[in-house]
Amino acid sequence: MSESAQVVVCGAGIAGVSTALHLVRLGVTDVVVADPRSPLTLTSDKSTECYRDWWPSSAMVGLMSRSIDLLERYSTESGNAFNLSRRGYLFLTSDRAKLADMARSAHSTAALGLGEVRSHGSAGGETGYVPAHLEGWKDSPEGVDLFMGGEALRRWFPEVGPSVVGGLHLRRAGWFSAQQLGMWMVDQASAAGVRFVGDEVVSVDTRGGKVCSVTLSEGESIDTITFVNAGGPLLDRVGAMVGTRLPVHSELHQKISFHDHLGAIPRGAPMVIWSDPQRLDWTPEEAAFLVESGRSDVIEELPRFCHGRPEGGEGANWALGLWEWKQNLRSPEWPLPEDPLYPELVLRGLSTMLPAVGGYSAALPRTRVDGGYYTKTPENLPLIGPVGPNGSFVCGALSGYGVMAACAAGELVAQHMTGAPLPAYEAAFRMERYAEPGYLKRATAGTETGQL
Ligand SMILES: Cc1cc2nc3c(=O)[nH]c(=O)nc-3n(C[C@H](O)[C@H](O)[C@H](O)COP(=O)(O)OP(=O)(O)OC[C@H]3O[C@@H](n4cnc5c(N)ncnc54)[C@H](O)[C@@H]3O)c2cc1C
Repeated sequence: MSESAQVVVCGAGIAGVSTALHLVRLGVTDVVVADPRSPLTLTSDKSTECYRDWWPSSAMVGLMSRSIDLLERYSTESGNAFNLSRRGYLFLTSDRAKLADMARSAHSTAALGLGEVRSHGSAGGETGYVPAHLEGWKDSPEGVDLFMGGEALRRWFPEVGPSVVGGLHLRRAGWFSAQQLGMWMVDQASAAGVRFVGDEVVSVDTRGGKVCSVTLSEGESIDTITFVNAGGPLLDRVGAMVGTRLPVHSELHQKISFHDHLGAIPRGAPMVIWSDPQRLDWTPEEAAFLVESGRSDVIEELPRFCHGRPEGGEGANWALGLWEWKQNLRSPEWPLPEDPLYPELVLRGLSTMLPAVGGYSAALPRTRVDGGYYTKTPENLPLIGPVGPNGSFVCGALSGYGVMAACAAGELVAQHMTGAPLPAYEAAFRMERYAEPGYLKRATAGTETGQL
């Protein structure tokens, strides 16, 4: 069987469905999205579903600010069908030197156009801090609140432990249901005529240096002159079908969802992030047992950025926790490899900043583990734009920020495909950047990527 389409999108993750929606919004509706899996089910519905406007480079600030503008617009258009909130990200530290660094970086990052920095002193009195609304995002503050003392911070966040000396609360940040956003996009695109096909792309015919057709595993061939690789963790394998070698690798990232029956994480909490490295408080007996069982890796000092948040609205009692306590680079495979110690590591890590989580040390709560891969370029910027033969495009390498970036990433690749005007940040995400002499060295030198 053979058919034709103006565009074939390979992959119905959040990147692929956003690409389809934005093609529609730019007037292209003759689009096929091919994926053997149900939309969003490989990585995009496994994330922590958080977003923030806080990034270390002006290109990423441009992309994310645009993406959050679109999230807010679609939240309004859809009657907030995907529960966009703006509780913020609260970075915490027990180290005064780090707090001083946080203060410096708050001012330099805010200078990229991210709004005002409101500083709250070390005393616990009236500080002018404005809390976020529990639901929705409208009318919650933007910019950043800097707490220069633990008492000032605990006045608003009493769940935070006594070792915390201050922190940074990013305000244009929060979470949403990525699965519901994605399905809203699928519905919008389908209603405009986009066809979702439950089949795998197995080859792309690029005779004469241009895209001619795409073959699916059931044998169907689709004549097309435009192909988009939105293959997520399989980006490099799909890239090989159009003869390109994409500079990407994948890291395993997992998260726990736990039944917080002790109410250790308040329902109104923001996303909380521990910014210090830490050693977990194993008893001498536990430490000896871990060494004996070959797990001395978990008794060493472990890296920063253990983080978590409440999940679900009023009356719910689930919470999420994540910690990339050890980098795990690997070729993507499913089912995901398991580490039986992971839930306990995350809960112990969280209890350093949220002591009530330590209540689970006697008996772990009911816990689920899932996750997927961060697919990344060496400098952790995405790949969005033309690549390889004429008519071939990529929208991927969305790392640990893909659900928050998806709206602007899909819009940008659709702009490239249709010849629409491009935003100023587009050049930073093109494949051509790697051809610039010295680019990678410059881009990776001392860069704080902000990865969680
Ligand atoms: C534990 C964890 C937490 C995260 N937390 C956050 C967060 O808080 N905020 C955030 O913004 N991001 C977060 N992320 C990152 C985010 O989930 C990803 O960046 C994003 O989901 C990537 O979307 P994607 O569409 O590129 O990939 P995917 O969702 O994996 O979709 C790719 C699709 O391509 C399809 N495909 C591949 N090959 C083919 C082929 N040959 N033919 C047809 N289809 C094909 C696959 O079947 C798949 O459906 C997190 C990720 C993880 C793992």
